[in-house]
Amino acid sequence: MSSKFWSDTVKVLNPYVPGEQPQGEQVIKLNTNENPYPPSPLVQQALLKAIGPDGAALRLYPNAESTGVRAELARYHQVLPEQVFLGNGSDEVLGHIFQGLLKHKDPVLFPDVTYSFYTVYCGLFGIEYEKIPVTEDYEVHVDDFLRPERRANGGIVIVNPNAPTGIALPVSEITRLVEGNPQSVVVVDEAYIDYGGESVIPLVQKYPNLLVVRTFSKSRALAGLRIGYAVGDRMLIEALERVKNSFNSYPVDCLAQVAALASIQDNDYFEQRKNAVIASRDQLRRDLQQLGFVVLPSATNFIFASHPKVQASALAAELKQRKILVRHFKAPRIDQFLRISIGTQQECDALVAACRDIVKFSA
Ligand SMILES: *Cc1c(COP(=O)(O)O)cnc(C)c1O
Repeated sequence: MSSKFWSDTVKVLNPYVPGEQPQGEQVIKLNTNENPYPPSPLVQQALLKAIGPDGAALRLYPNAESTGVRAELARYHQVLPEQVFLGNGSDEVLGHIFQGLLKHKDPVLFPDVTYSFYTVYCGLFGIEYEKIPVTEDYEVHVDDFLRPERRANGGIVIVNPNAPTGIALPVSEITRLVEGNPQSVVVVDEAYIDYGGESVIPLVQKYPNLLVVRTFSKSRALAGLRIGYAVGDRMLIEALERVKNSFNSYPVDCLAQVAALASIQDNDYFEQRKNAVIASRDQLRRDLQQLGFVVLPSATNFIFASHPKVQASALAAELKQRKILVRHFKAPRIDQFLRISIGTQQECDALVAACRDIVKFSA
């Protein structure tokens, strides 16, 4: 075994480590923020119809521009189709954004506690970055991104509501960030926005430097089909198109396009499942607080929780023994926390029962 064929770029990469995806085993899976409920039944119907009796439709390349989905998303968000970019999951969209809009001589800024993929893209594309610490309460402090003595930045990336903390910033704060930073792009990753935050998509009409990223993986229960998108000024979208067509012209497969379209069209189902997750989340927060956990206020489909008497890594290991998976990040400032995705009410109850057991024997 030798890495002698590796390029210098590959030798120094520090790749993202995705949450565990156990195959076949029966576990309660609360580690990757997937939706505990299936997608809209209209999605399944549309997929079966698209495959057809013999699958002949699969012979053809998909629509390279995802025209139908972009038109539907444009209608949904009240923008033009030219303001929407579709990709193979928002991770791919974010990759194109780092390469196409954030790679400049000045460093990209993001909070020290945020989605850990951002530093990975910087490593892959050779982009300098600077981490801006969140406050003691784990909140993103906009003024710290706008300090006049700071040298120019190559762009700013935030997740709203933030991951893995779950804490949301109000639109007024993001507006301040965008207005105070007119010389570079502000990217707002809204992966969890449907669970309680307020979207800044309406602001893209006013600010040519604002780009919003969304995914079908969480609130729309389609993580397996890999669909993400960005909404912004058409010149920002054109940059992403240029990267896409220099890398993979068909990132969104034909079934993913069909599923995305059906999902957007079933708003009632979407609202109903979203509200079920929100209700379970608020219940779970109260239940864990009763067991002595510190739980940050969450506007997402996960909670970020810490127990003063039990090491987070030990707790994660104990839960795993009981076949419950949660996410622990071995990272500065957050290594005493667990990120717990919201499951069905039954799954949340099983988690609380297990935590009660573990805490009792550790206290
Ligand atoms: C889950 C997640 C993504 C990735 O979503 P995909 O569309 O599945 O690639 C991006 N950003 C954040 C903050 C996420 O939590």
